[in-house]
Amino acid sequence: MSPRPDLVDFHCHLDLYPDLGRAVAACERRRAATLAVTTTPKAFSRNREAAGSSDFVRVALGLHPQLVTERASEIDLFERLLPETRYVGEVGLDAGPRFYRSLELQTTVFRRVLKSCAEAGEKILTLHSVRAAKRVLDLVERELPPGRGTVVLHWFTGTASEARRGVELGCYFSVNDRMLASPAGRRIAAAVPSDRLVTETDGPFVERDGQPVEPADVEPAIASLAKIRDVPPDAMKVAVVENFSRLVSNITTG
Ligand code: MN
Repeated sequence: MSPRPDLVDFHCHLDLYPDLGRAVAACERRRAATLAVTTTPKAFSRNREAAGSSDFVRVALGLHPQLVTERASEIDLFERLLPETRYVGEVGLDAGPRFYRSLELQTTVFRRVLKSCAEAGEKILTLHSVRAAKRVLDLVERELPPGRGTVVLHWFTGTASEARRGVELGCYFSVNDRMLASPAGRRIAAAVPSDRLVTETDGPFVERDGQPVEPADVEPAIASLAKIRDVPPDAMKVAVVENFSRLVSNITTG
């Protein structure tokens, strides 16, 4: 039984900080339930070792859509490692200009990820969906039926109606302070039911004052969310921890 966290960072690349051990320690110190996402299956074991007996860090098995061109063959390793964890990510699709060319290959890989998760059951996935919200939701709807897994849409940049569709499919949303700095991001955070929201940093990719955010530094996201949803910051913080607890328990949503 893990101790109750004070904070939630449901999408952080701990292994892309200069010192993975220190990044894990920062999450422990802040008592932040942290999902350490990975970008290739080969990185999973190193993260697992670093997380060791951590109370607050969980490690996800990932295959990042932006790396699929070079790493598609690692889908076999992904499937072999899948029984070792309940958490999957970063996976998904990226149809932005730099990665559009690999969208068909990304789709093939992502479909295999979803199918193997549905087959295994009870996985929790953190999904990338840049310029591909509709296609990601279509694939989730088709390949990962409710009761076969839970999806968290990370830094969702789709439309408000696509966000509502995600809600109907049982998805959670993880939001960071960069996302909440944009009007579109704030609209999503306002539209999603309050019991489907968790916080993330997406560190070290998100910067604050020219520096990468620290792992688990989600207080600015909590403050923004509280403002957007017009609730006291302390209540927002507690609600996010409760949402996280429900998400990782076995209660099926949607
Ligand atoms: Mn990420």
